[in-house]
Amino acid sequence: MSVAENVVEIRDRIAAACARAGRNPTDVLLIGVSKTVAADRVREAVTAGITDLGENRVQEALEKALVVGAGPAWHLIGHLQSNKAKKAAGLFSWVHSVNSVEIARDLSRHAAESGRTLSVLVELNLAGEAQRTGLDPARLDETISGIRTLPNVSLGGLMTMAPFTDDHDAVRRCFRELRETLGRARVQHGLPDSFRELSMGMTGDFEIAIEEGSTMVRVGRALFGERA
Ligand SMILES: *Cc1c(COP(=O)(O)O)cnc(C)c1O
Repeated sequence: MSVAENVVEIRDRIAAACARAGRNPTDVLLIGVSKTVAADRVREAVTAGITDLGENRVQEALEKALVVGAGPAWHLIGHLQSNKAKKAAGLFSWVHSVNSVEIARDLSRHAAESGRTLSVLVELNLAGEAQRTGLDPARLDETISGIRTLPNVSLGGLMTMAPFTDDHDAVRRCFRELRETLGRARVQHGLPDSFRELSMGMTGDFEIAIEEGSTMVRVGRALFGERA
């Protein structure tokens, strides 16, 4: 299937999941995850209506953005090292993978230099898997308090990755926990309505994520095919 056909199919699946959950499909942003995908195929996706692209490496995204052009919004979804924060702050509109106040501070400082404000999400490691780079949920409160003091980042919500498992109930519990954590944090910190994004759901689990309240699904393989 072509990328354009895949876009149609994914949008149908998003709409069906929204219908099951009594949600409006316009409340779910489809982010096309273009890591490892060549720029010409990424352009096909943009032509087919993809407005938002996710990458997990800063350098790869910068090179691709030169070819793909200014249209789409770029989301950094992979782990960010502080020595890449300056370049990241110049390209990305959203950084989903913030796991410390320090990295948010670096992003804020560099965003200020280019007169930008970045939207950031705190990535939580809810599955407790050691190989995950997200924040320990026990540190969420202090991290939110720290990020809120920064002038050039806007705290947009939370992100997580489900555990590596075929157990759909475990995946669902993880997504539900992220939603409940967002609600609790909003009340506890008196956060504005803009603290609303739940970045959760990938090719294997985006329908479950939507049923549990996802507002941003990060879909790679269902859009572009298997990665090499
Ligand atoms: C690669 C990646 C995705 C997309 O995964 P698919 O299974 O290809 O949909 C989503 N989120 C993150 C953080 C990723 O690294």
